[in-house]
Amino acid sequence: MNLVDSFFGPYGGRYVPEVLREPLEELEEAFTRAMADPAFMADLEKYRKTYIGRPTPMLHAENASRELGGADIYIKLEGLANTGAHKINNALGQALLAKRMGKTRVIAETGAGQHGLATAAACARLGLECVVYMGSVDIRRQKPNVFWMEMFGAKVVSVESGTKTLKDAVNEALRDWAATFSDTFYVLGSALGPAPYPHMVREFQSVIGREVKEQLDMDKVDAMIACVGGGSNAIGFFEPFIDEATPRLIGVEAGGRGPGIGENAARMTEGKVGIVQGYKSRFLLDDEGQVQHTHSISAGLDYAGIGPQLAALADTGRVEFREATDDKALEALKFFARTECGNFALESAHAGAGAMELAKELGPGKTLVVNMSGRGDKDLFITAGALGGEEWRAFLKDESERTYG
Ligand SMILES: *Cc1c(COP(=O)(O)O)cnc(C)c1O
Repeated sequence: MNLVDSFFGPYGGRYVPEVLREPLEELEEAFTRAMADPAFMADLEKYRKTYIGRPTPMLHAENASRELGGADIYIKLEGLANTGAHKINNALGQALLAKRMGKTRVIAETGAGQHGLATAAACARLGLECVVYMGSVDIRRQKPNVFWMEMFGAKVVSVESGTKTLKDAVNEALRDWAATFSDTFYVLGSALGPAPYPHMVREFQSVIGREVKEQLDMDKVDAMIACVGGGSNAIGFFEPFIDEATPRLIGVEAGGRGPGIGENAARMTEGKVGIVQGYKSRFLLDDEGQVQHTHSISAGLDYAGIGPQLAALADTGRVEFREATDDKALEALKFFARTECGNFALESAHAGAGAMELAKELGPGKTLVVNMSGRGDKDLFITAGALGGEEWRAFLKDESERTYG
């Protein structure tokens, strides 16, 4: 099997400056060999069990299903993985590969900080030096994750260029890598970027889908639904079913505040085909091909591009897309918290909103499974501010005066 056929239909590829060709070729070869090596796979499996906490549970959301009165809902509790999200599946896999390749230094980009956190955790465990590039705007928005990355021994570098957010952090990481690849491994966080990253991230995340297959009778599952930022939790969840006719596979993008450029991250409805950061896919671009601003209440879905394989699967119709607005995501977060004590991350709450809508559409007697890609502890400052209002703000003020005043 060729794991790395660099294109998915018209999308994907490796559109990089010449300096990055060598490290990407080296990476592709090392990755392909590792995946065929039983010793590497056994090591990965050991860490999945003892460090990540796999398999993650499958919850039959009986209360939520009953209240909605439609299809039966199951929730894959990926947020119970170590560091609170699916990101660790990929970060740990790539960090193990870095070690196998003899690299001593790891770099990563991060937006909301979940990928940086997972990479810092994997590096702490495996004894690798870790540097995380993060936009200064994101550093301010996601203080708790910055705190923990530093606790895990990572150096967090503040990126001051461009919009000072995720795409600028990716640029800085690529710049670093071009100059340091002889001893440095770049752990990329989603199923995008130049080949072999989309393939590698998908393979490391596909453990989610394989577990679903073992946990449920798939003949009885009508649909699977996941949120889509770059697309890593979705493609990992869908992977074992892509070549099958069923179940329906559904991705949910951030509908943000509603339609219009700058108001959402809806690449499938408002995006155009382009080449950005080394790969061809659908992006939110202006008429000159420049990357546009995006908005989502969830930092993890707030990105202008989508993984190339998902873009291709949308074209063939195998994966359907829909959107959930900020308000719908918050509504779903409250609903699953009340009915199932489900602590959904804001990103995952978009999938939750999609599941609520779909359960009603499918109706009784049908079954759907939703991927809860992460848990929402990291979002407390945003969620409580949005839902709790005055009381929460007063608490924060009191607390900071009491502790630091
Ligand atoms: C990062 C993140 C996402 C979005 O990334 P994908 O690559 O699309 O999965 C979704 N959910 C959570 C909890 C995240 O941390």
